[in-house]
Amino acid sequence: MQFVYHPNSQRIIFGAGTLKQLPDEVALLGIKKPMIISTEFQKDLAVSTKELLGDSFESNIFDQAVMHVPRESINAIMSDIESNGNDGCVCMGGGSTIGLGKAVALETGLPSIVVPTTYAGSEMTPIWGITEDGVKTTGRDAKVLARTVIYDPELTVTLPDFLSGPSGINAIAHCVEALYAENRNPVISLMAEEGIKALAESLPVVVVELDNMEARSKALYGAWLSGTALGTVGMSIHHKLCHTLGGSFNLPHAEVHSVVIPHATKYNQEHAPEAMQAIARALSTTPDDAAGALFDLLGKVGAPTTLEEIGMKEEDLDKATEIALSKPYYNPREVTKEGVRALLQNAFTGTRP
Ligand code: NAD
Repeated sequence: MQFVYHPNSQRIIFGAGTLKQLPDEVALLGIKKPMIISTEFQKDLAVSTKELLGDSFESNIFDQAVMHVPRESINAIMSDIESNGNDGCVCMGGGSTIGLGKAVALETGLPSIVVPTTYAGSEMTPIWGITEDGVKTTGRDAKVLARTVIYDPELTVTLPDFLSGPSGINAIAHCVEALYAENRNPVISLMAEEGIKALAESLPVVVVELDNMEARSKALYGAWLSGTALGTVGMSIHHKLCHTLGGSFNLPHAEVHSVVIPHATKYNQEHAPEAMQAIARALSTTPDDAAGALFDLLGKVGAPTTLEEIGMKEEDLDKATEIALSKPYYNPREVTKEGVRALLQNAFTGTRP
């Protein structure tokens, strides 16, 4: 056995009700003037966070975070931060909000605390993304890692079922690809398998029992494991395809991940036997049906199963194939034009793999 394991150093607070520890955690980082970041949709959460922080801090709110971190949003928040003299960020939300916090950290080096409210996993990764003139550039920089993450499942209660299902499957996709990553290691593989199991057991409950805090906790625990996997090892064909489909055809992030992951798993089935065994153990099935069981899970959590239903046009599948093949990357099975085109066709029609 040979591997390199390079964990990211972050402080994790987990549990229902832990949001109330936020003032202590902000103080621990020496932040006195936090900028609270949210989307407009979650601005009430930003306001209640400001109240929670109270008079001990001079906090401000920026509630205009949007998908894909456009340069205009960064310019707007940077101008506010400079005029307020903020010395850190508190990100309250999903990947879009966290992404803006990362862009601020990239430019300023200011520390951030993240309170995730979806299962996307960005809070655990050093990966940033910025969109300029319609082109999204991504990179890795330890500077953008959240110093502290507070996982409070009570904040996921407001996540509607149609977002919870795809968001949780997005997290499962990180775990699946971590299991066959080129730089995989035994610790992350354990976390990835446990992440799939926790999410697969909890998500079907989360989408029907909104107040089931045990299921919500388990799903968020799985999301933490999945984000850790995403932030530590490399991703392959699935993430490459989802990046292409989301960026070039403007398809919704978590939904694309949901539709594609069973087919990407099938694509690699014969070339990643240990990963298939781990997925099978997590889903209580056989390794040759790991992809099929992932497909069945989509139905149980109300996630979409076809690219068609989330807005992809069949005539764009050739173009998507070309873009996905334009730059080489690691995948356990060779990435071929015929293979990718067939994968996308199956994802388009929602054929059970
Ligand atoms: P999101 O942050 O875009 O949130 C979607 C919508 O749901 C927003 O309106 C948000 O305000 C709302 N919302 C979030 N949590 C809620 C809650 N608990 N209750 C009610 N509403 C809530 O969605 P996302 O899937 O978390 O993030 C997607 C983005 O994150 C993509 O742009 C993706 O590229 C990025 N991402 C980045 C990384 C990384 O490592 N850099 C990892 C995963 C995702």
